Amino acid sequence: MKLIDSHCHLDDPRFDADREQVMERALAAGVERMLAIGTGSGPPDLEAGLRLARQHAFLYATAGVHPHDASKARPETFKQIEALLDHDKVLAVGEIGLDYHYDFSPRETQREVFIEQMKLAGRAGKPIVIHTREAWDDTLQLVRQHGTGGGILHCFTGTPDQARAALDLGFHLSFGGVLTFPKADALRDAARLTPEDRLLVETDAPYLAPVPRRGKRNEPAFLVDTVRRLAEVRGVAPEQIAEATVRNFERLLFAPAMR
Ligand SMILES: [Zn+2]
Ligand SMILES: [Zn+2]
Repeated sequence: MKLIDSHCHLDDPRFDADREQVMERALAAGVERMLAIGTGSGPPDLEAGLRLARQHAFLYATAGVHPHDASKARPETFKQIEALLDHDKVLAVGEIGLDYHYDFSPRETQREVFIEQMKLAGRAGKPIVIHTREAWDDTLQLVRQHGTGGGILHCFTGTPDQARAALDLGFHLSFGGVLTFPKADALRDAARLTPEDRLLVETDAPYLAPVPRRGKRNEPAFLVDTVRRLAEVRGVAPEQIAEATVRNFERLLFAPAMR
């Protein structure tokens, strides 16, 4: 099986001691490429993803301000992101969105920073990677008003109705470790109804490790467990999920020149 982890935080300090081995284990498990999310610990540093992607051919990056860090954004932050989006290996703006669970930044600021970054993505012609938590209605409304056509709902954990709404807006749904949790039946229903050409898989490492490693530090190699579960839920072979999610990733994120 050849896989792509569409969302991981390889810059996280929890990987400082063994980052190279973590990547080796991913490659050995068939996770041949990874999208290194570039939000890091927030502005002014916006290169947490690209720094890694510059060092490894199999890594790509995003750039953006996480909703948690929205209050750290300054006018120059957006100029920096715009410049980073010129880089071939920076494939998307993300993760961006709204997080009303933690409210680490004021909601109004989160919304402004989200909108600003959707505009940047539109100008650059690159997709967005959305993080939304306890902010579904506002997220959807802002995407309808300011989105420029598609992207990824990362770590999708919604209901079938929410999945349908996101799919109607042109989004891809990326499923992670939560899909394997015993109580996630509604999420598995959502995963079942998602068309094969809109599926992506991710770890969100170091967070949200799938069963049987739930509660431990997650790493891209563990993507295999989520893929197996997703295959079971959809009644297909894991290889079919692997092929579809690689194809979808390439179609959505690689500029025509890179295909
Ligand atoms: Zn997230
Ligand atoms: Zn993330």
